[in-house]
Amino acid sequence: MNAPVTMLPFADPGAGYRALKPELDAAMLRAMASGWYILGQEGEAFEREFAAWLGEDQHAVGCANGTDALMLILRGMGIGEGSTVVTVSHTAVATVAAIEMAGATPLLLDIDPDTYGMDPDELRAVLEDPPPGLPPIRAVIPVHIYGQPVDLMPIKAACDAAGVALIEDCAQAHGARLDGRMVGTIGDAAAFSLYPTKNLGALGDGGILATRDEALAKRIAAIRQYGWVRRYVSDLVGVNSRLDEVQAAVLRVKLAHLDAHNARRRDIAAAYDAALAGTALAPPARRAGVEHVFHLYVLRDARRDAIMAALKAQGIGTGIHYPVPVHLQPAYEGRVALGPAGCAETARAAHEVFSLPMYPELADEQVARVCLALRGL
Ligand SMILES: *Cc1c(COP(=O)(O)O)cnc(C)c1O
Repeated sequence: MNAPVTMLPFADPGAGYRALKPELDAAMLRAMASGWYILGQEGEAFEREFAAWLGEDQHAVGCANGTDALMLILRGMGIGEGSTVVTVSHTAVATVAAIEMAGATPLLLDIDPDTYGMDPDELRAVLEDPPPGLPPIRAVIPVHIYGQPVDLMPIKAACDAAGVALIEDCAQAHGARLDGRMVGTIGDAAAFSLYPTKNLGALGDGGILATRDEALAKRIAAIRQYGWVRRYVSDLVGVNSRLDEVQAAVLRVKLAHLDAHNARRRDIAAAYDAALAGTALAPPARRAGVEHVFHLYVLRDARRDAIMAALKAQGIGTGIHYPVPVHLQPAYEGRVALGPAGCAETARAAHEVFSLPMYPELADEQVARVCLALRGL
């Protein structure tokens, strides 16, 4: 009998807490002792600090989760029923759910098969010649998937030419840069998830959105709380999507460590890249001019299931992001509109991609263990 292998998990949210426990405990106690639990000083400070960290005159608004951040941006822009919003099928279902929560119609495009982002040529074609039977296109939501900025400048040029809003889905890309500019500051607005395993993660749910447009930020801040500009008076039709004070206090601690955490993710990625040299697997492709933040380290191979099983036998956990594209999920299949390319690359990727353990708390010996297993593939 072999000795049982200790599992190195694909994700370990508890490690993120343990690594910063004294700081996080102090922050949570401070928020709990304050006697103010919703939309108070911690949340305001977090919004200010996050906007300053983004730079470029951004205004930030906290909310309940990343899905709501996207939905609130659309509602704040007045984009809902009677509007089409273009995004990709190769994303968390959340991106598409947010569009429908706002009342708009999603249109899903295919991806570039090397870096998995929205195909700018297909977007240009769709904006110039929209598919028949859909309401007018009012916004485009590209996703900086896995932590790598998408090919945003041609996407922005196409949006500007067509007069439609550009909303960046930054749920996996806090701190990623494109030609030196922080993602989330290039489009008209950006949404960030603060789910525990994201690059900036709470100890629960959270989200934040950012925009240079101060009036839009103020409108969204009202919409997130029943449309109140003044207490108990709804000037706008709103929802309830607030970030609580305990999570905001946690996130202020985590934000101060985010750049270092992203640097650690890049170091781990470099170690995996080196281990893959000489194997049949290619490291993730990087686009020129980008600073990737490796929310996920994603490999691709037609023998994916066998490779994942081989890694599991050595105690290495892996994941799939995502096994079923949005347009093939039971709730969406046959109902959601696709672009002219028909999402063939998206469907192909879903059968071949898999993700290695990637979180800043991975110890050097754990990274070495993954590398050893990779060299044997
Ligand atoms: C996580 C994620 C979201 C949604 O965030 P939640 O906080 O889970 O609502 C949206 N888009 C992408 C690409 C994500 O990865």
